Amino acid sequence: MTAQPEAAAAGHVPSVPFVTALPRCNFAGYCNFCGEQGCRSQDCIATYQNTWWAACDICDGVGGDGLGLGCLCTYGVIQVGAGYRGAIQPQR
Ligand SMILES: [Zn+2]
Ligand SMILES: [Zn+2]
Repeated sequence: MTAQPEAAAAGHVPSVPFVTALPRCNFAGYCNFCGEQGCRSQDCIATYQNTWWAACDICDGVGGDGLGLGCLCTYGVIQVGAGYRGAIQPQR
């Protein structure tokens, strides 16, 4: 009998990427960089791929104060610098 991987994995918390980068285009399809709807610019795509995102530290990613007031972040996510704690990049 060899060691059971299931048993070894028990209690292991998978490294789920909790934070998701905002999409490059908003929900109406307008690019956040050039403002064009349906943008396919390689410049915009490259710029976007080089961005970093993290959970907002003002609202802890909740997106508001729980009393109906919204936070200045977007859906609990903010754009940050590369060295920011917990920062992630858009998925390719
Ligand atoms: Zn664009
Ligand atoms: Zn916030």
